[in-house]
Amino acid sequence: MAGIMSSQGSPVKVYIRIRPTANFAHELIECLPDQQTLRVRSKKGKRNNHQSSWLFQLNGVLHNVSQEDIYDGVARSVVLGTFGGYNGTIMCFGQTGAGKTYTMTGAAETYKQRGIIPRALQEVFQEVAGRVDHTFSVHLSFLEIYNETIVDLLSSLKHGKGSHSGVLTVVEEPGGGVSVKGLSLHLVHNEEEALNLLFEGEMNRIIGEHALNKHSSRSHCIFTVHIESRSRTLSEAKYITSKLNLVDLAGSERLSKTGSEGQVQMEAMYINKSLSFLEQVILALADSRREHVPFRQCKLTHALKDSLGGNCNTVLVANIYGEGAQIEETLSTLRFATRMKCV
Ligand code: ADP
Ligand code: MG
Repeated sequence: MAGIMSSQGSPVKVYIRIRPTANFAHELIECLPDQQTLRVRSKKGKRNNHQSSWLFQLNGVLHNVSQEDIYDGVARSVVLGTFGGYNGTIMCFGQTGAGKTYTMTGAAETYKQRGIIPRALQEVFQEVAGRVDHTFSVHLSFLEIYNETIVDLLSSLKHGKGSHSGVLTVVEEPGGGVSVKGLSLHLVHNEEEALNLLFEGEMNRIIGEHALNKHSSRSHCIFTVHIESRSRTLSEAKYITSKLNLVDLAGSERLSKTGSEGQVQMEAMYINKSLSFLEQVILALADSRREHVPFRQCKLTHALKDSLGGNCNTVLVANIYGEGAQIEETLSTLRFATRMKCV
């Protein structure tokens, strides 16, 4: 199978995307010519007489890069890998407002601003149409994890396979896979049907926010494309299934210790925990001596168990602001990103 495989070195490819701004802090953030390294200075460090400059090396630094180039450079090989039977996961990480949803879903205003999900759906159906020697079925699911509770964003739709209104749980399948019990799976025949479901799920996410008085940045969202294929020419051929997970992670920002309480504090605790469990899982996957990978510590890593590391393509896009005012959060995002890569 061609394409970028995660098994070469680190199990995760990590990219930094800088949100465009007229106030880019050139004095604090410097993109080195190799396009893989960022040098960041912090005023705070200087004042305390600590180290004031850090180097972060990733698989790529994407600055002033179009949605199309992001898709081609970061996502495309993962999407195509699913047609070779490889599960894939693309995740966006970073503080609220840094561009995670823009990267993953895009802006509705113009076609050019479509993000990774609509472009991936287009590519999936192009592949399906082009591979006449195979028969395919494509299903979609869309879930949200809020305070360790899984919510089906497409459950209100009829015709969903397996949908029910009870508690959704991650279950282990024979053979090492996982699935979310009770999550609805929707058969889609073309790009338009798929985009309608994406839109429907986004709407349900917004409606749920109002009902629960929460903000979308406080939950993780996983949009999954389930691809099943079988050769038309080999009569004994088995079905091959693969999954593509497109993940918009909850905002990673730290709360100021004062002023937050109750619900907000609980949300922050769940988010911090799940992001640190995600890191632990990635570190364990990268360490060949580790036999046990702690997938089951939270819903996020458990739901992604069969799509991280190993025989999967995993990409993390860390979204950051270019403004000096956000430099401390930017540093924290870059540290997380580098830890995920330097394993
Ligand atoms: P997040 O999901 O991380 O909270 P958003 O994706 O919602 O952040 O981005 C915040 C705002 O910035 C949105 O209005 C979005 O359209 C805009 N934005 C983010 N990244 C870009 C970009 N690369 N180019 C243009 N606009 C962007
Ligand atoms: Mg968002």
